Amino acid sequence: MELNEIKGIGPKTLGLLNKLQINTIEDLVEYYPFHYDVIKRTDLNEEKVTIDGVIESIPQVSFFNKKMNRLMFNFNTGSILCKVVIFNRIFLKNNLKPNTMITVIGKYDKEKNTLVASDIRFGSLPNIPRYEPIYHTVNGISSRELNKFILNALQTNFSYNEYMPEYLKEKYNFLEKRDSIINIQNPNHATNLKSAINYLKYEELFLYMFKMNILKLNNKNNLGLERNVDFKQVEEAIKSLPFTLTSDQLNSIKEIYDDLNSHKRMNRLLQGDVGSGKTIIAFLAILINHFSGYQSALMVPTEILAHQHYNSFIKLFNNYNISVEILTGKTTSKDKKDIYKRLKNGEIDVVIGTHALITEDVEYKNLGLVITDEQHRFGVNQRSNLKNKGSLADVLYMSATPIPRTYALTIYGDMDISNIKTMPRGRKEVITYLKKESEIKEVLTLMYHELKLNHQVYVIAPLIEDSDKIDLTNVNKLEEQMNKAFGKLYNIGVLHGKMNKSEKDEVMNKFKNNDIQILISTTVIEVGIDVPNATTMVIFDAFRFGLSQLHQLRGRVGRNNLQSYCVLISNHEKERLNVLLETTDGFKISEEDFKLRGSGDLFGIRQSGDMTFKLANLKNDYKMLLMAKDDSYECLINKQYLENKYLTELVNRICNLD
Ligand code: ADP
Ligand code: MG
Repeated sequence: MELNEIKGIGPKTLGLLNKLQINTIEDLVEYYPFHYDVIKRTDLNEEKVTIDGVIESIPQVSFFNKKMNRLMFNFNTGSILCKVVIFNRIFLKNNLKPNTMITVIGKYDKEKNTLVASDIRFGSLPNIPRYEPIYHTVNGISSRELNKFILNALQTNFSYNEYMPEYLKEKYNFLEKRDSIINIQNPNHATNLKSAINYLKYEELFLYMFKMNILKLNNKNNLGLERNVDFKQVEEAIKSLPFTLTSDQLNSIKEIYDDLNSHKRMNRLLQGDVGSGKTIIAFLAILINHFSGYQSALMVPTEILAHQHYNSFIKLFNNYNISVEILTGKTTSKDKKDIYKRLKNGEIDVVIGTHALITEDVEYKNLGLVITDEQHRFGVNQRSNLKNKGSLADVLYMSATPIPRTYALTIYGDMDISNIKTMPRGRKEVITYLKKESEIKEVLTLMYHELKLNHQVYVIAPLIEDSDKIDLTNVNKLEEQMNKAFGKLYNIGVLHGKMNKSEKDEVMNKFKNNDIQILISTTVIEVGIDVPNATTMVIFDAFRFGLSQLHQLRGRVGRNNLQSYCVLISNHEKERLNVLLETTDGFKISEEDFKLRGSGDLFGIRQSGDMTFKLANLKNDYKMLLMAKDDSYECLINKQYLENKYLTELVNRICNLD
């Protein structure tokens, strides 16, 4: 059965539901409320009164002007007689007949003995509290309508994936998933609601940890390739670099070297704040791998970043005679075929690219090292797919978004971790300002000062063009504004996700070469981009972003020894944004983000999909996460997952445990 066969869902509603990522009946019934209004009888003297009773007079109508009308009638609650008034609900008049039992929600004015109603429901209140689900929704569908569609969908024989083996359901006395869904959408009792949420949360966490544990078991004691590289060769390469490595960088590369040279298969996370210099470590790892004759693959989340890494790798190591190629979703099919061929026969030593690297068509001759940059942007499946391209390949993950240590240990429990804690020498802390939109002149002045010094500026706009949220500043409007202010003196470029590859490349290259001085961009430049001469980052509508995401954006400046600036423009959420003014420590910022937002979005940055939970909150449900971790581990090693077809499919998809 299709979504549009559900009662009440026409083509227009369907479009709106799609906006909420609801495309199937299963999506619909698993679109959970984020809150419940509890409807229960209250006293009259409470802030918000909810009370039932009988109408005792025909409602009187008054009109004040074209826009205002009022209904008023006598109301008997059984304990008192009072008046009820409600504004602008004239359409209710014919239903509000004397002797009708209704529930009134509103505020009681004792002096006037009047209940000013904000809402009227027909029928009496139940004796036990009723829970009314409230959903996040879009313009055009009210939360109540959404609930109606969901209730209609619950009447069908809806399907769902259930990632929970029977023995665990018994162990915890869980509700059935079907009942859990019914109860969370249409709660009839507090206890049942609690059990429903409990099960559904647990299932989310279990599924997540189950996937993690598959990876972990897959790695454990895995023997990998053995190499015999002399560290002197690495030292030579380090000496030829245009800068001196920091001691943390040196330690990291030594740890990686040891892993690569040992028999054990490397499974390491390289953590370091934005700008700490992780890329060079990846390059050196690639070099070590190359010295021992193996191919390397470096996977990055965006095309722009792929090009950047490709160009800097070539620049740094052109005297090593290494053949490097770039492969992204936008590589032409002719070029792709050629690259596939040369990867398979070993003519290519290093391939840098996006998730195009993991499509089925790509085969390697002898893949020895797999690196993912900005690993938090990739899903578990994508990660393991790339790894499976080289059955013994060593794996290095790099990430700038640190997460609080306890959580990291749970989530990355299977990995070794190298840390780059200090920045390269001579870096100055980025000076950060928070400005209101009305203070734009000051922002322009700062930009002007920096531009005059021959430095460059990023300007971030959150949206590409006017959409539903028209109050948000958009790229096009910004371009106009910037042109007015600077167009005569400086070149302005625009970058956004809807541009094609060559357009993006052109703009990015121009910015790198300082042919463009002001780059107006969406968050496509959020991760990884490195243009050291850019010293100013201006972010419009900063309140729209998570703290860690803003920290990442700020990390685009302050990448050499020039004093850099970041201006957050926002009329809202001053307190939250102030955290960024107080510290430039990514760890602290992520802790704050975590405190404020719980998880939902653990890294404060858009996730790959498998890290965003609908119900669970890593902070509040940490105990449950630990349980799910242990349970899923046992389930895997005892092969109890075999009784559940969804879990079995998952194991087969991610890897073969045998
Ligand atoms: P991230 O860790 O955010 O990926 P990058 O690897 O892009 O950071 O490095 C940021 C900038 O710092 C780059 O321009 C890089 O060339 C430079 N860099 C890296 N290591 C050092 C160092 N030890 N000394 C000086 N500059 C460095
Ligand atoms: Mg980087």
